Amino acid sequence: MELPEKLLKAVKQFSRLPGVGEKTALRQSLIMTKWNKEDLMHFAEAIKGLSEINHCKKCGMYCDQELCRICTDSFRSQATTLCVVESVTDCLAIERSGHFRGKFHILFGVLNPLLGIGPDELKLDELISRVENENIEEVILAVNPSVEGDATCSYLKQALPEKTRVDRIGFGIPMGGSLEFVDSLTITKALENRRHL
Ligand SMILES: [Zn+2]
Repeated sequence: MELPEKLLKAVKQFSRLPGVGEKTALRQSLIMTKWNKEDLMHFAEAIKGLSEINHCKKCGMYCDQELCRICTDSFRSQATTLCVVESVTDCLAIERSGHFRGKFHILFGVLNPLLGIGPDELKLDELISRVENENIEEVILAVNPSVEGDATCSYLKQALPEKTRVDRIGFGIPMGGSLEFVDSLTITKALENRRHL
């Protein structure tokens, strides 16, 4: 059956989202045709606003102003510990855990020579100047375990000032997990990252 062009347009946009197929996109669009005009406008405005979000000039986090909430926090802006993450979602995951009270630096990727992502693309110079200018004493590399992640950590370890302590977060068995169901690489990492009791 032929559907109106306006509906098809909405379906096409929804189906661009990860994990949303054409069927789901159609269902969502049909549900929204029942919304009143005002609610639809609010929805459209919220989406439009996404193009106006700033990146924090220091850490790269999304924010409304020049600097993010963490970089302007009176306590955290004095912190001497800096946590380096790959993405905004990784940063949010650590924030959700509620235990880290230092600063962040978001790389927006990892080194990947095959894809042409080198130190310049990740602006690693900016990270190194931050460590120097903000008197950072300890850098925690919360970079995910992968060949590229490991290479990024090795690069940073040798590029950061020698006096800075550089640690990488431990990886291992998830809480509530069972060794039986964990892949061998995770078990290897967990053994490597064991802590003395
Ligand atoms: Zn920031």
